[in-house]
Amino acid sequence: MDPSPRPVGSAARAARVAIIGSGFSGIAAAVALKRQGISDFTIFELSAGIGGTWWNNRYPGAEVDLESHIYSFSYARSDWTRTHARWDELQRYLESVADRFGLRPHLVMNEKVESVTWAEERGEYDIVTSSGAPHGAFQAVISAVGFLNIPLIPPFAQGETDFRGVICHTSAWPEDLDLTGKKVAVLGTGSSAVQVVAEAAKCAAELKIFQIEPNWLLPKGNRDFTARERRLNRNPLVYEWRRRRLYLQYDLRQVRASHARRGGRANKRRHRAARAFLESSLASRPDLRELLTPDFPVEARRTVISDTYYAALCLPNVQLIPHAVKGLTSSGTIDANGDQHEFDVIVLATGFDAANYLGNYRVIGVNGVELHEQWAGEPQAFFGLMVPGFPNFFMMYGPNTNSAPLVSFYEAQARFPGPSLPRRPATSGPAPGASSPSGRSAPRSTSPRPACSGG
Ligand SMILES: Cc1cc2nc3c(=O)[nH]c(=O)nc-3n(C[C@H](O)[C@H](O)[C@H](O)COP(=O)(O)OP(=O)(O)OC[C@H]3O[C@@H](n4cnc5c(N)ncnc54)[C@H](O)[C@@H]3O)c2cc1C
Repeated sequence: MDPSPRPVGSAARAARVAIIGSGFSGIAAAVALKRQGISDFTIFELSAGIGGTWWNNRYPGAEVDLESHIYSFSYARSDWTRTHARWDELQRYLESVADRFGLRPHLVMNEKVESVTWAEERGEYDIVTSSGAPHGAFQAVISAVGFLNIPLIPPFAQGETDFRGVICHTSAWPEDLDLTGKKVAVLGTGSSAVQVVAEAAKCAAELKIFQIEPNWLLPKGNRDFTARERRLNRNPLVYEWRRRRLYLQYDLRQVRASHARRGGRANKRRHRAARAFLESSLASRPDLRELLTPDFPVEARRTVISDTYYAALCLPNVQLIPHAVKGLTSSGTIDANGDQHEFDVIVLATGFDAANYLGNYRVIGVNGVELHEQWAGEPQAFFGLMVPGFPNFFMMYGPNTNSAPLVSFYEAQARFPGPSLPRRPATSGPAPGASSPSGRSAPRSTSPRPACSGG
């Protein structure tokens, strides 16, 4: 493969492109195509709204761990209300970017992509979606499906259960679910768990957190911007300064991965900071300090970021149960110790099937090879973007590209496909199959040569 970008001339007709997903990375991909002069693309989105992670994760307290000024696009400033935006502000932000770049006419909502199949003889992809509607062929596909969107549900909570109360995963929060005055269980102690616990502790009659293992935890420094700060942030120079400072901070942290390397200077610093935070927050609760001290090194697992979790655990209506849940009864849970607990609501903060990469649709490439079969459990890709045998199939947030600051990575990944896409002959008339407002366009059978395949 020739990874060097080739410019798409203004007279050239670009390929017809399918983007799968309308979260941060799908929007980044669409904006990049537009900026590169490629406007014949369709965005398939299985949900009813734009935003991906920030459309799905609406549990109380859901917010980003990265500062808003860096967890956002370089080309779309926003008047952030908080240092770290909540889910609804992020979701509105993504909608505003979609509007600003005219992406709505390209969107096909409530349409799950089931399969993407390379048609060898035509040199293009056929896409099958949940509605069965015809979408025509695409010369390139940009997968932007993220990898934290297949909820991990414990076996005892799958399908119909005996439990008569409400049970939900954090990523599927029922719109009308209010925890006020309820007996609530939270299963898990990861990033989503600490956020929902901090909010539930304020209003639940009783809150029990089931912990298999504690995580190292660092404070976040989250707060509303003052009116003065917001005025200042509206100045493009101040905004840019904030972004660059944060970018540098995150980028420098990656140098030699010192923060994650045991014995590294940054790692030792983080260890000291996490310990100090634990000890000062739980000074009056030696019982909790013991239960919450991990027995693995800092950064061996994802460090959790929260200002409020330890404080919430000290409230009188909150109890930390240092056991896993093993099963459900009609009125609550049974833990690994054999103890029964009664609840009105059980919140599964049990995370996502992150290892099941591109797990909800099939990708079939050259010679009918299926992508997961080729990966054989070890997803890997050239630049995290492309896989040999899958021409013009690009992955945003691809294997081994999870890092910080993520949105800056998306912008870089999004610029990659456009210049290497096949062109149409300039004589072929109006851009064939240009997406209709519904995004559903007539099938076409032109066969540009596949321009780009990983490997
Ligand atoms: C609760 C939570 C907190 C997070 N906090 C942070 C953080 O603090 N910092 C950070 O950097 N990252 C965080 N992340 C990671 C977050 O997922 C990424 O930052 C980013 O939002 C991913 O964007 P994406 O567009 O790649 O994927 P997603 O946001 O997951 O969007 C993928 C989209 O693709 C759609 N889709 C999936 N499959 C199909 C299909 N077959 N057909 C059609 N559409 C499909 C989905 O419906 C979804 O809309 C968090 C994730 C979660 C779940």
